[in-house]
Amino acid sequence: MPDDLMDGRIVVVGASLAGLRAAEALREQGFTGSLTIVGDEPHPPYDRPPLSKQVLLGVAPADSTGLPMRRDPEADWVLGVRATGLDTLGQRVLLDDGESLPYDRVLIATGTRARPWPNPAEAALDGVFTVRTREDAAGLAAALDAGPRRVLVIGGGFTGSEIASACRERGLEVTVTERGPAPLVGALGGTLSKLAAAMQRNHGVDLRTGVTVTRLLGEKTFTGVELSDGNQVDADVCVVALGAVRNVEWLAESGLAAGPRGLACDAGCRAFNMYGIVTDDVFVAGDVSRFPHPLFGYQLLSLEHWGNAVTQAEVAAHNMVNPGPLRRPHLALPTFWSTQFGLNIKSVGVPTYSDHVVIAQGSLEARRLAMVYGYRGRVTAAVTVDMAKSLDYYRHLIETGAPFPPPPGAADRAIAAEIPIPSDVPDPSVLSHGPTVALTGYLPDRRLTVV
Ligand SMILES: Cc1cc2nc3c(=O)[nH]c(=O)nc-3n(C[C@H](O)[C@H](O)[C@H](O)COP(=O)(O)OP(=O)(O)OC[C@H]3O[C@@H](n4cnc5c(N)ncnc54)[C@H](O)[C@@H]3O)c2cc1C
Repeated sequence: MPDDLMDGRIVVVGASLAGLRAAEALREQGFTGSLTIVGDEPHPPYDRPPLSKQVLLGVAPADSTGLPMRRDPEADWVLGVRATGLDTLGQRVLLDDGESLPYDRVLIATGTRARPWPNPAEAALDGVFTVRTREDAAGLAAALDAGPRRVLVIGGGFTGSEIASACRERGLEVTVTERGPAPLVGALGGTLSKLAAAMQRNHGVDLRTGVTVTRLLGEKTFTGVELSDGNQVDADVCVVALGAVRNVEWLAESGLAAGPRGLACDAGCRAFNMYGIVTDDVFVAGDVSRFPHPLFGYQLLSLEHWGNAVTQAEVAAHNMVNPGPLRRPHLALPTFWSTQFGLNIKSVGVPTYSDHVVIAQGSLEARRLAMVYGYRGRVTAAVTVDMAKSLDYYRHLIETGAPFPPPPGAADRAIAAEIPIPSDVPDPSVLSHGPTVALTGYLPDRRLTVV
């Protein structure tokens, strides 16, 4: 490592949201050395949230979501090239074109990819899609333009629900299959998932819960699915929305703590090696990371949140060019938004880190509410439905570890009268595609079970 942290060679692997924001922040911090950004997609960084929203609605073309640059990162862009390995001893990033890039510090920002349908032959049928990239969304939007008789969405998480919403807005018939009891249950728990189910059905979605798809049908072209309950659904388009897979395989030989939940790092974005020793020249940011948060029992969080990719990239960049005592922790609260079926859903904190919930404002009947989540008598998360303005108040409660249920005063009615009910979130130790923010340790009260 050079004596002057503002100089030397930095390589960023992953040319998307986290990679771009980190590169910009490095220059803002005053880094004057060489900066190289490697990305396996052929495009400069673009935004993904519109891909399941405006692009599928046909109001924005897939190639119009390029990410605006806050400043020129003055970088060498190596696009359309995949990193295949990281030699941490020799400090080199290995590339699939046979080249390698030397570094003094490296940032890993390789994000996630769509979890593919497990049967490759069925996944290859014409009319079967996933939605992660610009090409995916363009292909699906074209298929929807063609006016299919029915769209079949596998998975009722956020992406699957948004896709179903876009289909209904286009007037297309759509079936959603969800193996849990309701859509969004993995992310938001039992109560709000019931609202999500009601919203889907009210908007004409043929929602099948408690079932799995056992087979995609068709010779060359997709024609429908078989379900675990013995039913068959005919459809022309299938969207596999089974969550995301962390892009960590290329790190398999690196000796770093990389696995299905992501690459583990400390609160300063420094990667851990496989022995749990923190490195000083390998940093991580965005969806590929797994990091501890003091507000959630120091458990490692795996997030798929736009806002986290930005703030963590900025902290990583700061720490890459500043000495130890000046380094900052990444302590931002997880926040997430989704729009579907005319509702604006916003989340702050970690809803799955909860044992009880209370409706603090509004009501399920009004479809406008703020639900507060608590764990062992402390507020840990809040989700608003069409009530985003209240979120900042609950953010403050989470940040200060306020008692749960929160005292009256936050609400437009006396919540002291409300009885907290079980939050009904899935066991965090079970790998699930549901939540976009997952705790990847164990709750203290479940530790004995694990032992
Ligand atoms: C359809 C969709 C809708 C979404 N909607 C929302 C939303 O409403 N709200 C919200 O908060 N978040 C949303 N998200 C999540 C948000 O887009 C992500 O959190 C964000 O993109 C994470 O950025 P990232 O840079 O960490 O990872 P990514 O955007 O996944 O970028 C990683 C990049 O690295 C590349 N890469 C991977 N492996 C390699 C390799 N070995 N070598 C070189 N390059 C590599 C990838 O191809 C990719 O370009 C949505 C995501 C999708 C897909």
